[in-house]
Amino acid sequence: MPMERMESRREDDLYKYYEVHETIGSGGFAKVKLGRHILTGEKVAIKIMQKKDLGDDLPRVKLEIEAMKNLSHQHICRLYQVIESSTQIFMILEYCPGGELFDYIIAKDRLSEEETRVFFRQIVSAMAYVHSQGYAHRDLKPENLLIDGDHNLKLIDFGLCAKPKGGLGYELMTCCGSPAYAAPELIQGKAYIGSEADVWSMGVLLFALLCGYLPFDDDNCMVLYRKITRGTYDNPSWLSPGSVLLLNQMMQVDPKLRLAVRQLLQHPWVMKDYNTPVEWYSKQPLGHIDQDCITEMAVNLKRSRESTTALVQEWRYDHITATYLLLLSMKQRGKPVRIKTEHHFTEDTFSPLHGGLQKPHHYADDDDAVILDSLDLCSDFIDDCPWVARHPQQGVCGKMEPTLDDKKLASPLEKRCNRSPAERRKATATHHLERRHKERQQASENKENVAQREKEVEIFALPPPRTPTSSKKSMQPRNVLTTPGQNVSNGYKSTPKAVEGSGSKEPVKRKAVESKESTNIEILAFSPERRSRSLDLPASGDSGRKRRAGRVFGSLERGLDKVITMLTPSKRRAQRDGPRKIKVQYNVTQTGQTNPDQVLNHILSILPEKNVEFRQKGYTVKCKTLDDFGKVTMAFELEVCLLHRSELVGVRRQRLKGDAWVYKHLVEDILATSCI
Ligand code: ADP
Repeated sequence: MPMERMESRREDDLYKYYEVHETIGSGGFAKVKLGRHILTGEKVAIKIMQKKDLGDDLPRVKLEIEAMKNLSHQHICRLYQVIESSTQIFMILEYCPGGELFDYIIAKDRLSEEETRVFFRQIVSAMAYVHSQGYAHRDLKPENLLIDGDHNLKLIDFGLCAKPKGGLGYELMTCCGSPAYAAPELIQGKAYIGSEADVWSMGVLLFALLCGYLPFDDDNCMVLYRKITRGTYDNPSWLSPGSVLLLNQMMQVDPKLRLAVRQLLQHPWVMKDYNTPVEWYSKQPLGHIDQDCITEMAVNLKRSRESTTALVQEWRYDHITATYLLLLSMKQRGKPVRIKTEHHFTEDTFSPLHGGLQKPHHYADDDDAVILDSLDLCSDFIDDCPWVARHPQQGVCGKMEPTLDDKKLASPLEKRCNRSPAERRKATATHHLERRHKERQQASENKENVAQREKEVEIFALPPPRTPTSSKKSMQPRNVLTTPGQNVSNGYKSTPKAVEGSGSKEPVKRKAVESKESTNIEILAFSPERRSRSLDLPASGDSGRKRRAGRVFGSLERGLDKVITMLTPSKRRAQRDGPRKIKVQYNVTQTGQTNPDQVLNHILSILPEKNVEFRQKGYTVKCKTLDDFGKVTMAFELEVCLLHRSELVGVRRQRLKGDAWVYKHLVEDILATSCI
């Protein structure tokens, strides 16, 4: 049957089918926003890439998209839809609200062997499946494992994966991934087997889960490479003999002596307490067609089940694929397989693309409750800052055509989007009312989440005060003590844009948002500058120091990503006049202090010592580190705040850009030195 389709700009497709909400993450070249698929009401993650920014990384994106289309597994983040315009690429992905495994590890300091086993079995399951499909991932690390709503892991970031034409047994040459997780044969530039290199990275990951730090680590890249090629690392005392053995079997320098993934599936350590091998086959095999989902779509599309099945089986990764896969996901989670008939989407419901992507998303339908997206403020901050290096990646593997498949598809589902102006106005009004109602519901849901998380918060003792050591040259004299009224910077170029919402004349209600912002720099072409650190930490063997510092991060909650702040007018006043009052979240370090100005001044005085450039605004300090060439290696934010109930001072941390472990060490160091 010929299918009609109203012509539309491909960008508009995003706003036709999805609500676009706040930024929840950003990577080397992508910004990831929370979205909602309008027809099913399901949350999604929208990975947004600007083509002009991608440059040589465009093939990497193409590779990632192709791999994700071919992979369907319970522990791999599902791709639902790809939208490509002349300037942008949007990947609509399964939403993982639990954040990165990395943040989970540091929030808990390290994981118990039992909890590690739960996660590790899922990682083995995902990797056995990836390898069975002929792929090697080549960038396994805790930043690339996300936690979903059921606390299960989902593997992301297939931009560096490889699928050798002759099968996985064929050798690869491209050196890629993050050095700390890279196998010795890879960093030595030898030909290597992708699956063997993945097992090494899984060993490093397993060590990171069990220990809370990396087995091979050094500021200096050459020293790091030497440690990796020697393959020697210290086993901390808390590791069981079984863990020590497994780690040793995975981190064998000779790849031929290393365990294979198929051996991991039934390894005694992996089987302990389970007594069954890891189930690695896909529970959601590609090509399986679910009849309940087809029926629901057929009714909506006013088509026969046969023609609906044929449409779905084209697997174009358009809105048909997305609707089908989202319905399937709802069914698998025991939700009714329903397309929401009350939801209409119109051109005027959503802001134009540029407004949506470049500005914070304001919901203009509620005069006294404008939702300000705190993370968009953070990411706008990055956008505005000339110091942030936008494209840290270099070096890719593989070739691609310049554009992605752009086949068009017409269907009655699409026609729903092309209503008359009167229909649109009516639909918009209905939609606004519904959304207002939903937002209220969401706010109360969020409050419940906060209450639940508060119960789970573990309170750790702060490390003993440490005498600041200054092995590096200060960028600014230490007498920068200030009060929050006097904003200070030590090298930041000030941007005109206000970072905080408090300057607005409108009555502003900052509303609950599910949010998370974190970035990572991945190192494709290894260069010493990529591991450069601006802090004076002892070498990696000093686990005692690491454990102490770890406790600064340890006073955090489980790896939850929702930052929820309801700002009433009185709270807004408080933000202007003093530190914000917030609840303890996983990204808040508690100090034993009661005087926020003192903590702020301590932080400001320590930053230059650590070669951190900063700009202070009120109680928020925007920080960055630069390499020798002036390129930004790390960006993060520290906010001094008061903790609810205890009235003690806390420091909220937010990584905006940079290597996760380097960030962890640096902020630990700053806070351990400051929070006396
Ligand atoms: P890049 O390819 O540019 O490195 P990533 O795919 O790693 O970008 O995404 C950047 C960050 O966005 C991730 O580290 C994560 O915090 C967040 N993110 C990515 N995908 C999802 C998702 N499906 N659900 C929730 N957050 C996500």
